[in-house]
Amino acid sequence: MKIICIGRNYADHAKELNNPIPKEPLFFLKPDSAILPNNNPFFIPEFTNEVHYEIEIVLKISRLGKHIESQFGHKYFEEIGLGIDFTARDIQQQCKEKGHPWEKAKAFDGSAPLGRFMDKKEFTNLSNIAFSLTQNGVVKQMGNTKDMIFSFDEIIAYVSQFMTLKIGDLIFTGTPAGVGSISEDDLLEGFIGDKKMISCRVK
Ligand code: ZN
Repeated sequence: MKIICIGRNYADHAKELNNPIPKEPLFFLKPDSAILPNNNPFFIPEFTNEVHYEIEIVLKISRLGKHIESQFGHKYFEEIGLGIDFTARDIQQQCKEKGHPWEKAKAFDGSAPLGRFMDKKEFTNLSNIAFSLTQNGVVKQMGNTKDMIFSFDEIIAYVSQFMTLKIGDLIFTGTPAGVGSISEDDLLEGFIGDKKMISCRVK
């Protein structure tokens, strides 16, 4: 399986990192070795001095598809959850400056903590899902899918022009503003509404 991550899908987050608002979805991949199961600790890797949390709504692909039309995008996932797109921001900055790919900064082991999933039928409106991240009990990120630049349907249509979506693939749909650094012993918790969906202790 593969993990597809959408970058800069919330305007307020693009602005906080001084990035332009994209005209089409920007995406990158993480390998399956990046997955960190729920409640497992995250060990800060040696090669970075600045790991950022990015809380994101995650879609689990439930049907094989390519060249999917936007209007049918919602037929390709049944479950929605939360994940954290851990990013070695110092390394990413070096990659950006050199015009290099982002994998060293984004695709390392444990860089994709995954929470539990909910049936999408539990949501009355997929375009109005509030989610948040706390660090040691303090709210750091608050997002709502109504603020996404590209909707779930549009993301699925766009990505499937380039690569076949397979059952079990995951799509991280972008992070809202408020990203920041983690330190040893931090507790990160993610919520959809007031439901706790993910928990991760930093070591
Ligand atoms: Zn991200």
